[in-house]
Amino acid sequence: MSEDPAATLVFLRAGLAEECREHAYIVIVRTREELARWLSDPKPGAEGLQVEGLIGDPDAWALAAQGSKAIPLDVVLQDPASEFSALYRLADVRAVRVTLPVKPGFMKALRLAASLQLPVRLLPGQPEPAVLPELREAARFYLHDPMVEAPVEFFHSVFAAFRGSPQGTLWEILEQDPAIFSHRDDEGRALHPPDFVERHLSALIQDGTACATCRWQPLCAGYFKYPDPRYDCTGVKQLFAALESAADDISRDLASQEEENPAAWSTLSTR
Ligand code: SF4
Repeated sequence: MSEDPAATLVFLRAGLAEECREHAYIVIVRTREELARWLSDPKPGAEGLQVEGLIGDPDAWALAAQGSKAIPLDVVLQDPASEFSALYRLADVRAVRVTLPVKPGFMKALRLAASLQLPVRLLPGQPEPAVLPELREAARFYLHDPMVEAPVEFFHSVFAAFRGSPQGTLWEILEQDPAIFSHRDDEGRALHPPDFVERHLSALIQDGTACATCRWQPLCAGYFKYPDPRYDCTGVKQLFAALESAADDISRDLASQEEENPAAWSTLSTR
């Protein structure tokens, strides 16, 4: 646990959540019955539901669309390439986000989620070489396609960080830093200690991996070297560089617009 339990968001299975009274927590639901139970009567401290394995169940989403309580839902897809068309079922559900593992074909799900104006969290893990071109395409889509209105994480926060707004590390952005997000196993035990990221990065540096001198280390904190510290980061470094370059372009454009029309910008800045 974190030294300040009140600052930790706990993720635990629905059965364990019934007894959880001390922390803010996210309930992991995997059946329609669990979804119905937590939608109808969320207990104090339940800040959201992480819904796994239910995108293929139309009755579950008909139920969620009727829910009167707006507890946020994070709908996790396991295989975005085959499950993407089911995202239409979320069109009438309120306060919903979609989480997509970065696997081949995930772009189909990202495009459809964006067209439905759903926020998305991409979980890159250690992306295989075969999926890196699709990840770069996803970044271009996020940066340039007018259809994208809701945030696409992790691009959104990384881009904001490059524009000068501190967002924490990639572990935090992706809700995977155990110091803040305590994920529990089926017995309720924390999967990692609160200082996991600190220790992981220290070990990578001591072992002389590329993290020691990597310019993206303050933001990445060794994210892409887990679980395999031998992972080749060439592709993800190019992705960071592309996002930084786009952020620099926008900052330059805004600065030049401000120079051309300082009065309008001063009016805007006082709003
Ligand atoms: S991009 Fe790779 S080398 Fe750089 S900090 Fe992240 S994991 Fe380490």
